[in-house]
Amino acid sequence: MFEVAADGWCGQALRVVSPNCDARPIDSGIDLLVIHNISLPPGQFGGESICELFTNRLDCDAHPYFDRLRALRVSAHFLIRRDGVVVQFVSANDRAWHAGPSSFGERGRCNDFSIGIELEGTDFEPYAEPQYVSLAALTFALQARYRLTDVAGHEHIAPGRKTDPGPFFDWRHYRRALNRQLLLVQKCSVLGFPTSLRPEKSI
Ligand SMILES: [Zn+2]
Repeated sequence: MFEVAADGWCGQALRVVSPNCDARPIDSGIDLLVIHNISLPPGQFGGESICELFTNRLDCDAHPYFDRLRALRVSAHFLIRRDGVVVQFVSANDRAWHAGPSSFGERGRCNDFSIGIELEGTDFEPYAEPQYVSLAALTFALQARYRLTDVAGHEHIAPGRKTDPGPFFDWRHYRRALNRQLLLVQKCSVLGFPTSLRPEKSI
């Protein structure tokens, strides 16, 4: 089980703090999850390049593709690696810079009210099962902390400009994994525990 604390940090995630964030606008709710993909260089998995990019430490001379990333200041709240390990860069209470120009329904500037989750991957190949497992667990933990109402892909909030997470992201599989989390918790909650184990009321 994952848990997101009141300060917006998930205790089960590796913490790599990014400076690429700021405060959300006052009165901005947090109700949308945005799913992305990223791999650096594209199509290559593993390594530290994504963490380095999100913390402005990427050596842009290390690979020809990185040249276009110079001066880019971006982040996401979370990255889920191929093995399911979750890295967190920005408190979910704050605004990460993941969506860019975007809109959801009538609202623009999705960074204001969304939480961005990057899956290490591409538009051209399936995601790894541990990523779905971690994504569902993380989603569930975020739902417990924030009044999330919707989840969308970057491709849905920036159509024509963005294509991630792409056709290989299995939305049905994600929903099933999320429902399994829900069932798990519901089952746990109906178990009767010995009276002595129930949390005591604090006065
Ligand atoms: Zn994206």
